[in-house]
Amino acid sequence: MDIVVQKYGGSSVADVEKIKYVANKIKNKVNKKYKVVVIVSAMGKTTDNLIKLAKEISEKPHPRELDMLLTTGEQISVALLSMALNDLNVKTKSLNAFQAGIFTTGDFNNARIQKFKIGKILKLLDIYDVLVITGFQGITEEGDYTTLGRGGSDTSAVAIAAALDAKCEIYSDFSGIFTFDPKIYPNAKKIKYITYDEMLEMSSLGAKVLHSRAVEVAKKYNITIYCASTFSDEEGTYVVTDNIENPVVTGMSVMENQTQVTITNLPFNHAIIYNIFDKIAQKGFNVDMISIININNKLNVSFTIIEEEMEHFDKYLKEALVEFNDSQITYEHGYAKVSVVGIGMKTEKGVASRFFKALEDIPLRMVTTSEIKISCLLEKKYLDKATKSLLKEFEL
Ligand code: ASP
Ligand code: MG
Repeated sequence: MDIVVQKYGGSSVADVEKIKYVANKIKNKVNKKYKVVVIVSAMGKTTDNLIKLAKEISEKPHPRELDMLLTTGEQISVALLSMALNDLNVKTKSLNAFQAGIFTTGDFNNARIQKFKIGKILKLLDIYDVLVITGFQGITEEGDYTTLGRGGSDTSAVAIAAALDAKCEIYSDFSGIFTFDPKIYPNAKKIKYITYDEMLEMSSLGAKVLHSRAVEVAKKYNITIYCASTFSDEEGTYVVTDNIENPVVTGMSVMENQTQVTITNLPFNHAIIYNIFDKIAQKGFNVDMISIININNKLNVSFTIIEEEMEHFDKYLKEALVEFNDSQITYEHGYAKVSVVGIGMKTEKGVASRFFKALEDIPLRMVTTSEIKISCLLEKKYLDKATKSLLKEFEL
């Protein structure tokens, strides 16, 4: 039995016409003798609208109840898609997470998949050619509905492909993965192959192409993900273990809304640094680019956090610094982080110098690197110039 997992994103099933189109596309695969496990997201902006509704009822919606609400979105789309497939005489059945046995941790709004009732799915595939399963949702051992975090149906698809040892195809309104966001830069090139590690860097850096956990799961189980457009037959992008083309820089991504936090005048004692970051981490804040400098036997620490996390941050940071009366905190808003990612950096020399050359007349506030990435922090007003210059330098 040749099984393929196909995932259709919310914009691919946004209305009745699109659902019918998708049903035909699935039928084509069945005609080629495949058994198709289809994972679907909620129609169009359904999830956004449900969240809005919840927030009209309650300032802080109860997490379990929020998931109870959000899972309804995917349930609508699987039922409608199955109806459309039935009308095309395809043998099909829709399943929600409860029926498909998608078990997750109990972290409401951000659960992780733990196991599937794969025996049941395989048995159903003996009878049906297509199973249409809700993305994004799971259940706990206690039988509560959970969701996997925004964009989580990619993860549902890859996890089920891993469990079935099947190919995984992810369809959306993007025809693949590009060197840079094609909405911002229409001349961006489509990438044919991108490695899991590059993809993980890109998605954690803000390229909203694939749910990062989906890529982590694919990497762990060595599942090739094919990303392509629902509505065209144009060749898409393969997310794979190794990239034979080995480009120095595969892609670029940008994260706006960065705030630089600087604490000056701390005593020269590095244990303090651990203490401060530990307290910040315990409150659940994500700290990014960090620099520590020693000025006249005092420590100055800078780091970035995203603006959306600022709300209670100042209060907690002040708490963490109570003992250090002489220290001062400053916040500088309106920064952006620009990163270039490429597996070829591991072996190729001189990438950093090309990066700095491209940005030579832009003041950089911070720089961080990993084996396959260079990132810099700059004022938003330089963002356009910086991205254009990097796209040119690295021929993206
Ligand atoms: N419907 C969910 C969302 O909008 C899940 C997904 O689209 O993957 O986040
Ligand atoms: Mg989506």
